This record gives sequence, structure tokens and C-alpha cells, in this order.
Amino acid sequence: MNNQREKIGVYPGSFDPVTLGHLDIIERSARMFDKLIVAVLDNRSKKALFTADERVKIIQNETKHICNVEVMQFDGLSVDFAKAQGSRTLVRGLRAVTDFEYELQMAQTNHAMSTEIDTIFLTTDLKYAYLSSSIVKEVASFGGDISQFVTPAVRALLEAKYAIKED
Ligand code: ADP
Repeated sequence: MNNQREKIGVYPGSFDPVTLGHLDIIERSARMFDKLIVAVLDNRSKKALFTADERVKIIQNETKHICNVEVMQFDGLSVDFAKAQGSRTLVRGLRAVTDFEYELQMAQTNHAMSTEIDTIFLTTDLKYAYLSSSIVKEVASFGGDISQFVTPAVRALLEAKYAIKED
């Protein structure tokens, strides 16, 4: 079932939109695998600012320089997606203790559902420890400066989204 010649990691998330914190995790985890798949969750029950297609394109654009990164979208369980891609490893980022309880529960549930899948955690770079997509969206929605949280391209897209929303 699993082609173990190639080590594939799957980094699942909403990435609505991708922040410098996510990009740091992508860069660091890409070094651990032959291929890293950034898996954008197309969760219809969770209202996203950017469509899944937009989120995929944004990440593709921001990771062009990392040749072993592939960006895909998925719907459903991360473990099922990982298995379908021939991966046994999910990657998640940990910011603070507040992330820990939820992430531990998720990792244990995923492992119970699929014992061959493990989750590895990378701790955030301290300078991004407070960063989340929701906080960035909130600051952007009030016209605040988000240049230290996201790339220039993402900043322009966020500003455009909120400018349109205000009209
Ligand atoms: P989800 O909807 O699954 O929480 P997110 O897009 O918010 O998706 O986050 C995806 C993953 O990236 C999660 O493991 C989250 O903890 C991690 N993450 C989010 N922000 C940061 C950050 N600033 N530094 C490191 N990891 C982060």
C-alpha cells in the first residue's frame, strides 16, 4: 500500500490565509521529507475568507522556491488523505500550551483511527508564537498593518478582500 522509498509528510490545515508562522513550519518540515504535501482543508462547514482554490494558489506561490513541496486540497479526514498519498506522517505546528490539548487529542484520535499514521510536531519559531490566521484577519479587517505577519502578496490579497467587503 505504501511506497516507503519516498518519505512523504503531510501538513494539513485551513491556511486561511497562510501566515509567516505556517511558512516557517513548511520550510523546516520540508527538510525532513523527500516530499512535503501541504494539504489545504476544504471544510464547507467552516466559513473561510479565501476559497480552497485561492488558498492553494497562495501557498503554491509562497513555496515556489522549495522544490519538494506540493500543495493540494482535500476534504475529509487528514489520516485518509495521508494514506491515499502514501504518507505515514502528519505534521502540525505547536505555538503555545493552548494548542497542546487540542493537538494531542487530534493526534491520538488520528492514531487510533489509523495506527500506521503518526503525527510529528514542530514548535513555532518564537517570533511567530502569537500568530494565527484569525488574528491576522482581524487586524486586517480593521485596517491595521499586517506586514510583519504575512508575505507582501498575502497582505495585498487580504487588503483587497477587506476593501471589497467595506464597499
Ligand atoms: P487548523 O484549522 O487545522 O487549525 P491552521 O491553518 O490554523 O489550521 O493551522 C495549521 C497548523 O499550523 C496547525 O498545526 C497550527 O497549530 C499550525 N500553526 C498555525 N499558526 C502557526 C504559527 N504561527 N507557528 C507555528 N505553527 C502554526
